[in-house]
Amino acid sequence: MEARILRRDKLLELVDDLIKDHEVIAPRDDLSYGRVRSASEVCLDLGQPAKSLKEFIFPDREVLLEFEKVDGQMRLSEPAASENTSRIIFGARPCDAAALPVLDKVFAWDYLDSSFLERRKQTAIVSVACEEPAKTCFCTSVAGSPAGTSGSDLVLTPMEDVYHVTIVTERGQALVEEHERFFEKSDQMHDRKRAQLEDEWIQKVSRVIELDEKGLEFEKPVWETITQQCIDCGVCTFLCPTCHCFDIQDEGNESRGERVRLWDSCAFYNFTKMPVGQPRPTHYRRYRQRIMHKFQYYPKNFGKILCVGCGRCIRYCPAGVDIRDVLQKVKE
Ligand code: SF4
Ligand code: SF4
Repeated sequence: MEARILRRDKLLELVDDLIKDHEVIAPRDDLSYGRVRSASEVCLDLGQPAKSLKEFIFPDREVLLEFEKVDGQMRLSEPAASENTSRIIFGARPCDAAALPVLDKVFAWDYLDSSFLERRKQTAIVSVACEEPAKTCFCTSVAGSPAGTSGSDLVLTPMEDVYHVTIVTERGQALVEEHERFFEKSDQMHDRKRAQLEDEWIQKVSRVIELDEKGLEFEKPVWETITQQCIDCGVCTFLCPTCHCFDIQDEGNESRGERVRLWDSCAFYNFTKMPVGQPRPTHYRRYRQRIMHKFQYYPKNFGKILCVGCGRCIRYCPAGVDIRDVLQKVKE
């Protein structure tokens, strides 16, 4: 892959230049990515934001249609199309970027989800490699890396005085060409250094989970005990960059309202509830569904694991459930 060099003291200037022509989303604090109107708002050194960037491609609430009763007739209309904005997510974590091609598989499957795909088309991803993977990270177990390129258009690898810039896609190439004055040519020394740093950071990922071809056993008594402390809060699913279950509801009254798509969670009792009852009435069955979906059904259907090892479900679970322990115990 082609590469360039960006001097560290030019980084914020580059962000301000990007803001002139694009909507720029970046980590603003340790809780979330958000829109920045000045480079001074960007926080790249606070570690992984608690919320992933999926909401910018797959919003937590999205209006699908509006309805209104006029002269006794119900009229349906599409919500006003959002402006055709060119957007850049700057400073994405490589795991968050890697989640996007995984989600593409399902949103461009039997039904082409036009709003998701449109946002994907409008959004360029500039990632920054992780120098210090957190104790909860396990990206290397699921085909990722702290300096992985999957899902990114450009990957910035921090070095002493510079960022090594890997150009991953044509869109990344175009971004570099648009802002050519910020970039210098790379050389073999920096290219080698990038590879060496990636190897070092891979070694820093403290835990590796063995995921083999044999898959996970559905009928195993251990499922009932390993997630007993789970309180079905759904935090793990909402913070997860790859969880994508949603519900569709009508909001409003008989005369006027909106049909909306809202994030949902397989942890909730009402999820997939049918007139005949709840097919997964106990929480261990719901948690098992989450794990089987991520590590068995999705790979079988789409050839990709539905997990990028970001570790958020471990860090923020109020009950201390660790997905790595669950996988290990189910394998034993
Ligand atoms: S975050 Fe923890 S307690 Fe909440 S649903 Fe997920 S596993 Fe259960
Ligand atoms: S399952 Fe957990 S570790 Fe995997 S992507 Fe989702 S939040 Fe991250």
